[in-house]
Amino acid sequence: MASTRIGKQAVVIGAGIGGLGAAGALADRFDKVVVLERDTLPAEPAYRAGTPQARHVHVLLLSGQRALAELFPGFEQELARAGAVPLRAGLDIRTERPGYDPFPQRDLGWSSYAVSRPTLEHIVRRRVESLPNATLRQRCRALEVVATPDGETVTGVRCENGDGASETIAADLVVDASGRGALTLALLQSIGRPPPEETTIGIDLGYATCVFAIPDDAATGWKGVLTFGQAPHNSRGGLLLPLEGNRWMVTIGGRHDDLPPGDAEGYLDYARALRTPTIYNAIRHARRLDGVARHGFRESVRRHFERLDVLPRGLLPIGDAICRFNPAYGQGMSVAALEACLLRRLLEGLEKDSDPLAALAPAFMAELQPLIETPWAVAILDFVFPETRGQRPADFETTLKFGIALNRLAAEDPAIHKLAAEVQNLLKPRSVYRDPALVQRLLAKMAEV
Ligand SMILES: Cc1cc2nc3c(=O)[nH]c(=O)nc-3n(C[C@H](O)[C@H](O)[C@H](O)COP(=O)(O)OP(=O)(O)OC[C@H]3O[C@@H](n4cnc5c(N)ncnc54)[C@H](O)[C@@H]3O)c2cc1C
Repeated sequence: MASTRIGKQAVVIGAGIGGLGAAGALADRFDKVVVLERDTLPAEPAYRAGTPQARHVHVLLLSGQRALAELFPGFEQELARAGAVPLRAGLDIRTERPGYDPFPQRDLGWSSYAVSRPTLEHIVRRRVESLPNATLRQRCRALEVVATPDGETVTGVRCENGDGASETIAADLVVDASGRGALTLALLQSIGRPPPEETTIGIDLGYATCVFAIPDDAATGWKGVLTFGQAPHNSRGGLLLPLEGNRWMVTIGGRHDDLPPGDAEGYLDYARALRTPTIYNAIRHARRLDGVARHGFRESVRRHFERLDVLPRGLLPIGDAICRFNPAYGQGMSVAALEACLLRRLLEGLEKDSDPLAALAPAFMAELQPLIETPWAVAILDFVFPETRGQRPADFETTLKFGIALNRLAAEDPAIHKLAAEVQNLLKPRSVYRDPALVQRLLAKMAEV
C-alpha cells in the first residue's frame, strides 16, 4: 500500500550518515527529497573535505548497522560485497584494559562489519541516489534556513551552488544534518528565540591515524586490537581495525597535553609508548600506505532541544547537530542512523495527525532522550580524567565503581559479557543493569572494589 504523503518537499542539509539516513526515512512521506551537500561527492569511495573525521577509524556498532539495513534493505550484503571485514563480537577484537591484557576473548554470538567510512558512506549514498524521488545536490552550500516573517514556520533553504549562484529551495520540512547545526542556531537567533541549552564535556582529544597493508606474518589470534590506557593518568589508547582491501587502519590518541604528533616517526614513537606493545609490534614493520592524519576533538556536546518550548514548524536537527559524542566510543554514526529510524517511525505514526509537521519535532525530541541516554552515559565516564572540563556528576565515584564491578563480572561470566556488549552496541538500554538479580551481584562486586 502506498504511504501517505505529509508534504511536497523535504530538504536535508548535509550528506553525512545523518543526512543520508534521514533522506531514506523521508522518501516515503514526501513527493520529493532534496539533499544539499557543500562538498564535491566522489564517484568512488574517497575522502572528502566536509568529513575530515573519515580519515580515522570509524566503528559502526551493530545497532547502527541494523538501523541502516532497516532504512536501506540489503545494506549488510552490500557491505560484504564491498569487502567489509566480518568480526565476531567478543572474539575477533583483542581488547586490552588494565587488569585484562587481554579481556577474555569469547564468541558473543553475532558478527558486525569493519569498513572505512568512505566506503560505508558511498554505499549509503548510492542507495539514496537510487531513490526515485530523491535528489542529491553536490557543491551546494546551505546558507540559511528561511522561515515565515513571524518565525513560526520554515519555508525553505537559501543555498549557493558551485558557480556562486544563490537560490532558495522551498521546503515543508528542513532537516539539519550539517554536523554543526549552525544554521539551526542562526535561525533561532534571527527569529528571537533562545538557543537550546548545552551540556558539554571538555576532553581535548587528539587522534593520529595511519593505514597499513596487512603484513603476511600478521598475528592470527585477532583481527583487531583495542588498547586502553590507565586512567586517570595515562589517557593514551589505540584501535587497530581491518578495512576492505586487506588493510589496517590504526588510530592512536590521547588527551590534553599528551597528543600524538603528525610525523611518521613520531607516530610510531607514540604507538610504542602505548600501555601494551601489541599495536606497536603489529605495525612497526608494516607498510604504511599514506601519511599521518590528525584530528582534534575538543568536547562532547549535547544540545537540549527537548527543553525548548517549540521549534519553528518544519525544522528538525539530527545527528551531530543534536549530540556530538566522544568519538573514541564509536557511537555517532550509529546514533544518527537510529535517529533516522526514529524519524521514519514517527512519520508513519503521525500520518493521521491534523498537522504532522508541527507535531514531528516535539515528538522526535521527546523520543530521542531515551535513545541518547545510554551513549551519553558513556561520555560521562570521561570525568575519570581530572583535566576533563564540565559538570562532574556528584555520584561519579559510585559510577566508576559500578563500571569496574561490571567489567569484573563480564570477565567472569559470559552472559554478563554479552549483556554489556549489547548495551555498548546500543542494542539494549543501560536500564537493563537495573535488573534486581544483577544489581545484587554488582553490589557485591562493588564492595570489593
Ligand atoms: C575523529 C572522529 C572519529 C569518529 N569515529 C567514529 C566512529 O568510530 N564511529 C562512529 O559511529 N562515529 C564516529 N565519529 C562521529 C561521526 O563521524 C558522526 O557522528 C557521524 O558522521 C554523524 O554525523 P552527521 O551526519 O550528523 O554529520 P557529518 O558526518 O559531520 O556530516 C555533515 C555533512 O554536512 C555537510 N555540510 C555541513 N555544512 C553544510 C552546509 N552549510 N551546506 C551543505 N552541506 C553541509 C558536510 O560537508 C558533511 O558532509 C567520529 C568523529 C570524529 C570527529
